[in-house]
Amino acid sequence: MKLVFLGPPGAGKGTLAAEVAKDYGIPHISTGVMFRTAISKHTSLGEKIKKIIDSGALVDDETTAALVKERLSAADARNGFILDGFPRTIVQAEMLKQFCTLDAVINLDISDEAVVERLSGRRICPSCGSNFHVSFMKPQTDGICDNCHSMLIIREDDKADAIIKRIETYRAQTFPLIEFYRNEHLLITVDAQPAPSAILENFKKLFPHNL
Ligand code: AMP
Repeated sequence: MKLVFLGPPGAGKGTLAAEVAKDYGIPHISTGVMFRTAISKHTSLGEKIKKIIDSGALVDDETTAALVKERLSAADARNGFILDGFPRTIVQAEMLKQFCTLDAVINLDISDEAVVERLSGRRICPSCGSNFHVSFMKPQTDGICDNCHSMLIIREDDKADAIIKRIETYRAQTFPLIEFYRNEHLLITVDAQPAPSAILENFKKLFPHNL
């Protein structure tokens, strides 16, 4: 299964992708996580993109597509993967088409109000990348990662100004991908408002394991 998860920031792409990846035994490939890892390791890529990411703007298409192309060439992605957060522009979608054939694009549909609520309450683990939420997905101990016990943080780009910028960026640059993939006959729209467990059940009905 070669899938793209599409949707505004905060739609729950990362949460659903992590569950589906575990359930179906395919890698969850998040460009956001790859970029944040590069930043935390102070690689040359990390130094180049930190300011862009913190502001809520997009990293350039060439850098992002090259990173994804390299990741998809790894052995674990041969039989399937979930791309979470890529492509985010029409140019990236065209680039992806050059090096990969997708099976489906899952569009997570959610209101702007719910997006703001989800992003402003989100907490992440800087060590392992796990996501939590102060209301909807509380960690067992406040402020501590369930998986690796690191202190949870608020992403720089989950702060108010950056949230507004990211929603604007999504509307201007990523939203047109819905039409793009509808025209490619790959688009499946899923209601992203329910709890993550209900969305996962819905997903499993769409994609039975024996596919
Ligand atoms: P995410 O974790 O998917 O919300 O991504 C966090 C940030 O990483 C975004 O706000 C962008 O700055 C950057 N980013 C992630 N994926 C892409 C992409 N496909 N193209 C450009 N920038 C990206």
